[in-house]
Amino acid sequence: MKTYPLYINGEFIQTKVEQEVINPATGEIIARASIASAAEIEAVLSSSRQAFDHGEWPRLSFAERKEFILKINQGILDQARELAELETLNTGKPIKETTFMDIPSSAKTFEHIAQNFEKYLSAQTIKVEDAECLLAREPMGVVVLIVPWNYPLLIASWKLASALAAGNTVILKPSSLTPLTALELAKIIDSAGLPKGAVNIINAGGDKIGSGLCSDKRVDMISFTGSNPVGRQIMGYSGQNSKKLIMELGGKSAAIILKDADLEVAVNGSLCSSFLNQGQMCTQMSRIFVQEDIYDKFIADFTAKAKRIKLGAGLDFQAQMGPLISAGQREKALAYVEKAKEQGAKLLCGGRIPQDNNLKQGFFFEPAVLADVRADMPIFQEEIFAPVVCVNKFSTSEEAVSLANKSDFGLACCIWSGDERLAQQVAAKINAGIIWINTYGMFYNQVPYGGFKQSGFGKELGKEGFLEYTRLKSVITDRSAEKKPLVNYWYAL
Ligand code: NAD
Repeated sequence: MKTYPLYINGEFIQTKVEQEVINPATGEIIARASIASAAEIEAVLSSSRQAFDHGEWPRLSFAERKEFILKINQGILDQARELAELETLNTGKPIKETTFMDIPSSAKTFEHIAQNFEKYLSAQTIKVEDAECLLAREPMGVVVLIVPWNYPLLIASWKLASALAAGNTVILKPSSLTPLTALELAKIIDSAGLPKGAVNIINAGGDKIGSGLCSDKRVDMISFTGSNPVGRQIMGYSGQNSKKLIMELGGKSAAIILKDADLEVAVNGSLCSSFLNQGQMCTQMSRIFVQEDIYDKFIADFTAKAKRIKLGAGLDFQAQMGPLISAGQREKALAYVEKAKEQGAKLLCGGRIPQDNNLKQGFFFEPAVLADVRADMPIFQEEIFAPVVCVNKFSTSEEAVSLANKSDFGLACCIWSGDERLAQQVAAKINAGIIWINTYGMFYNQVPYGGFKQSGFGKELGKEGFLEYTRLKSVITDRSAEKKPLVNYWYAL
């Protein structure tokens, strides 16, 4: 059985206590991974602080840093196939997704940042009255990156590429459900030859190490992607010693399908927005609102296609949907569906554990479509993080906007319409950080991404996402003609 050590101060550390890592498609143990305890947390905090305050990484030239980041990009590309298989084994998601999305997109993020960070970091000078003001970007310092299990390598890469390029030293903590690709990335980083302590990668249950890691004064910033309850805990820990936070939290996003939409495109796009990655996406469109004129046709086509989604183990190239990440996640999905039925919602398809013998050992769940859901039901309001979607009717676009905004979350929205002007008008009224029109899930390295309201704050990606990992210093220099600004003589006159 393969074992995965931690990566601390440039060394691979095998701990005495290890955890089993499970394949959710079969329940089988696929590897063992080391677990950080208080001693390893102290080691990473001390290593990262030392590396930032006295080490090479923040002091390298841009050209040197760029070269290292491109080596990480190349390392991921060189091992793309192995990484895709590993991500699929550990998360259950279909190999097509990891091969064409997760792994190449992870590599691409390092490449994009390597090619652009120098431009993003360039200082600005502004002249104000007699002063010249230099606005300089500096790294934040020691940055803790905490990532979830739904896109383990990709979300780690978004954070790591920016944090590193900005000159920070970094502690990366993957989810203990899916630590393997991050621990493989440690080997790529080590082979790339980054200075000791520039990147530390640890694995442990967040509840065990979160407080020690996130409250420590040696940490300057925490970039967290995960659930709202854990986000709130981290805000609590970090409040003990103020630090900068990025919070990428949950969602309950809405798709609005207007009557003039291309129905075929809207149906197929909505299947993707509801069920990709088993619906375990923060930007999942878990509420679909369809204009009444096309509602019946949409429901008929959407449910017919949802029923045909082929479940299977991720390594099977024919599988379109893998298992959920854990038994607990499946229990949660089943409970929400049952409760919604009791409250009067109509289950149109799925929502059950499949009976196929091949799927019995895994955490499989048939994609569920529900109608007649009221806005006060938990299934309408709460994030489930599973292939469960509610489809509702609306009559006017104003009503659709009001329904879509009836949520504590504000992460994303899809608008499907043949009338682009109307779609843009609707987009302007939606209280969410990212809107897709006639498409779904297009993430670009150039475009900032992040939610509003309870979906969090701060951005990933784009120049703005990159600059989150910097602090801004203003250096004001006197340029008065006589070199004697009045303020210097305030008490001398
Ligand atoms: P989670 O909050 O349970 O865990 C996220 C990470 O936090 C994991 O690494 C976990 O080990 C760690 N953690 C847990 N308790 C901790 C603690 N007390 N202190 C410090 N760290 C702790 O989330 P999850 O179940 O892994 O992922 C699903 C959630 O992530 C969903 O709510 C989803 O919407 C959200 N998510 C958001 C985005 C986004 O960009 N907004 C993207 C992906 C996922």
